[in-house]
Amino acid sequence: MLPDNIKLKAVLFDMDGVLFNSMPYHAAAWNKVMQQHGLDLSKEEAYMHEGRTGAGTINLICQRQNGRNASAEEIEQIYQEKSREFNQYPEPNPIDGVWELLQKVKAAGLTAMVVTGSGQLSLIDRLEHHFPGIFCKELMVTAYDVKFGKPHPEPYLMALEKGGFKKDEVIVVENAPLGVESGVAAGLYTVAVNTGPLPNKVLIDAGADALYTSMQSFSNDWGSYLKNI
Ligand code: CA
Repeated sequence: MLPDNIKLKAVLFDMDGVLFNSMPYHAAAWNKVMQQHGLDLSKEEAYMHEGRTGAGTINLICQRQNGRNASAEEIEQIYQEKSREFNQYPEPNPIDGVWELLQKVKAAGLTAMVVTGSGQLSLIDRLEHHFPGIFCKELMVTAYDVKFGKPHPEPYLMALEKGGFKKDEVIVVENAPLGVESGVAAGLYTVAVNTGPLPNKVLIDAGADALYTSMQSFSNDWGSYLKNI
């Protein structure tokens, strides 16, 4: 149940793992490319770092293993190879239940925004293809807009600014612990939807205000949010 002080005008959606089932590919790509550079990042750990910038993830592992940050060249090379690897996988499908939820959000007269650390150029086309008429590209927050990745609150604060919304007019939908931390740090009501392999506890510990174990169950419960509109 949303607290009474929230008067919903917008829902801020993360992308990977919330709109698209892309995380298995990201995790596999990270694991493979880091290994090729002698760095250990298991697929499961990749889920823990979901939402961090590429440079942030590479530096963290490099610090842990080699006691130093990666050089700018290393970061560029590893991140390029990771992106190339990711792009070799098939196009990720929408998360089950999310199209239904997005249509309910739209039908309730709310604005749906995407807030992602991703900088894939095909992003806007892909969103429009799978979710026609839902997202407005002027209201997207992507890797090009923000300096700090999640768990920093900047992406969500920028979404408020772009959309002209106050903190008690939006909710955040996230699937990853760092994404939840980002929403919570921005002072926003944050719904965690566990679409991946991590235990629910990780999302609760990150500060999630509500937790669903699938997007379909969030969509099924959407009626309970209507009292706040
Ligand atoms: Ca995510």
